[in-house]
Amino acid sequence: MKHLPHKTIERLSQYRRALLICAAKGKTHIFSHEIAKIQHITPVQVRRDIMLIGYTGTLRKGYNIQELIDLIGDIIDTKEGLNVAVVGIGNLGRAMINYFNGKRTKLSIVAGFDSNPDKIDRIYSGVKGYHIDRLAEIIKEENISIAIITVPAGAAPEIADKLVNAGIKGILNYTPKPVQVPSHIYLEEYDMITSLEKVAFFVKTH
Ligand code: NAD
Repeated sequence: MKHLPHKTIERLSQYRRALLICAAKGKTHIFSHEIAKIQHITPVQVRRDIMLIGYTGTLRKGYNIQELIDLIGDIIDTKEGLNVAVVGIGNLGRAMINYFNGKRTKLSIVAGFDSNPDKIDRIYSGVKGYHIDRLAEIIKEENISIAIITVPAGAAPEIADKLVNAGIKGILNYTPKPVQVPSHIYLEEYDMITSLEKVAFFVKTH
């Protein structure tokens, strides 16, 4: 499972969200073409992804929704859950904390870090703000394995280095500045401007 394509992991996460909504409505089984319709992709893609995780449905009923939710959970989640830190308790950092907490049981934001003394020793939606100088100490103490970078772009490379030295395993960089990390760290960079320009390009050309 370690070698599942990154895009498959993304889609599995999206399938699970869609499946949870279907389950909440009392639906027990679903066909690949139904998932495909919700996700705006092809049924072949859905079947390929689900086959990659070793699951098959039946011709007559399709996939068992709860089994598929559980299986995707086994693949994506860890049993005990993972702790997450937000570095940069500004507008975006606070929005991330607000949005995320209470949403997923297996990922919890447990600490925020900032260099501004006014932002530390305060609680943001249940999450404590610490001074950035305490990064390594708190990451160890709170068993934090994932960090979200929401500092101004210029500070992102320095923060990424600090996180790597502190033993972080995965980074989601929300700043427009790409960062470099060793190959054993999983890095996801989300540049909102690139995403918006991608949409603009398709709007222009269609
Ligand atoms: P912000 O100025 O509100 O927050 C930045 C925070 O980082 C501040 O609290 C600041 O004190 C802290 N900080 C600065 N240098 C630091 C350092 N060296 N160590 C620790 N903390 C430090 O900015 P924002 O609007 O929250 O944006 C944060 C980042 O996210 C930027 O890179 C921005 O481009 C990106 N971004 C923001 C949005 C948004 O909607 N606000 C959207 C997409 C991307």
